[in-house]
Amino acid sequence: MRLSSFPGIRGPCASLRRIDENSAKGVRGLLRVASGAGMSAFLRAGDLPAHLEVGEASIDVYFDSDPFDLGRATLLDWVMQSAQATTAYFGRFPVTHARVRLLPSGGGRVSNGVSFGEPGAPCQVTVGQHVTQADLDDDWVLTHEMIHFGFPSVEERHHWIEEGIATYVEPIARAQVGRLTTERVSREMVDGMPQALPATGDQG
Ligand SMILES: [Zn+2]
Repeated sequence: MRLSSFPGIRGPCASLRRIDENSAKGVRGLLRVASGAGMSAFLRAGDLPAHLEVGEASIDVYFDSDPFDLGRATLLDWVMQSAQATTAYFGRFPVTHARVRLLPSGGGRVSNGVSFGEPGAPCQVTVGQHVTQADLDDDWVLTHEMIHFGFPSVEERHHWIEEGIATYVEPIARAQVGRLTTERVSREMVDGMPQALPATGDQG
């Protein structure tokens, strides 16, 4: 997961404890986006964003199309809840203006996310057209992306701290707004943190 090798990319967002939820196919797709025409391609001509207010901040939400089984209002509510979780942790939303693009895919679930370290705080999240309310209620990806907005991009050799902080903060933020139980947060930390321990053959 070396998306940070591309200028302007804040994080790969395939955390160690959840790497199974970010398929290699999906990551390659993100690489193509990142190495293509640049992030100006983030917004397509003619896209009209939905506008959300989160405290003093605003978020523009872009839909490529509406193939989703769920209504647009339901998806916007999920974006808002992710923003509120992020706000609960930091005390305010980390940037004054963000852009969230919902990229449709086949199947269900929220499968991938990536944030870009450039003005306007764009991030892109892949959402299955058959995603359910339960999938959105259980989603960690978008909150994780928004947590990235609260930490600066660093040199690639220090990239671990960007993912580390986003991975650590996200479940706490969601627990603060009641989207996760503290018991589940504790259990996942106990189960997942040993994965970060050094292992034979690690390159550092
Ligand atoms: Zn990330």
